[in-house]
Amino acid sequence: TSALSFESVTARYAPGSAPAIQDVSLEIPRVGHTAIVGPSGAGKTTIFSLLLRFLNPDTGRLILDGTPLPDWSLTDLRRRIVYVEQDTPLVPGTLRENLLYTHEDADEEAIWDALRAVRLEERVKSLPDGLDTKLSTAVISGGERQRIALARALVGDPEILLLDEATAQLDGLTEAAVHEVIARIARTGAVLTIAHRLSTVIDAHQIIVLEAGQVRARGTHQHLLATD
Ligand code: ADP
Ligand code: ADP
Repeated sequence: TSALSFESVTARYAPGSAPAIQDVSLEIPRVGHTAIVGPSGAGKTTIFSLLLRFLNPDTGRLILDGTPLPDWSLTDLRRRIVYVEQDTPLVPGTLRENLLYTHEDADEEAIWDALRAVRLEERVKSLPDGLDTKLSTAVISGGERQRIALARALVGDPEILLLDEATAQLDGLTEAAVHEVIARIARTGAVLTIAHRLSTVIDAHQIIVLEAGQVRARGTHQHLLATD
């Protein structure tokens, strides 16, 4: 069964403008990694915007767990669908507050497990205040901030993780963390990534190729290379 489906979705950013995506139908399985691949302007980010309800479709429907997206409360939606951007902002406060963000009930073990997965365990242990360190740009680098955002997603154990994957410009540790988090969440939930090139998503279970707002092909990496 699908966790999520797009049924003939067309969306535009302004009335009368050209559609950003047109007649897109997608099935995102409950478990596994689905990658959306395509050049700049193909409509990848628009898919995420629709899922996050930053944008509403003109026609067609999005359905999550059998319920149309508009019928979900935003609070429920934000718990189920978590977005890690290329440059995810952190909330002002301590590292612990950032990791617990919308899931205050997570235990200490889950936090350290997530920090280990994103290669931040040693770093946090070396901080004088540990998890209670107040975050500032003086304390953490860009790559570390990205890894904190990934750890936060792991702690929340989302049903669906949206990831803007641009591993090309990430440092090695952060790239490893991205792959680890994708693999972990894809074991029990759905991971949806966007990428420019097929070569960066070899591990995806399903690849959807988007071009000029429309689905051009879908299948496994092997299947798409064979038919391209
Ligand atoms: P796309 O939406 O197809 O990823 P964009 O036009 O947004 O393309 O991005 C153009 C270039 O800028 C790409 O190489 C992309 O990796 C990079 N880029 C996009 N967003 C960010 C970001 N938030 N931080 C760093 N680089 C980014
Ligand atoms: P991708 O993520 O694949 O680069 P986008 O989903 O960002 O593609 O863009 C799809 C189309 O929608 C493009 O033609 C783009 O110019 C347009 N678009 C994206 N964001 C906006 C916006 N905020 N306002 C108007 N048009 C937009």
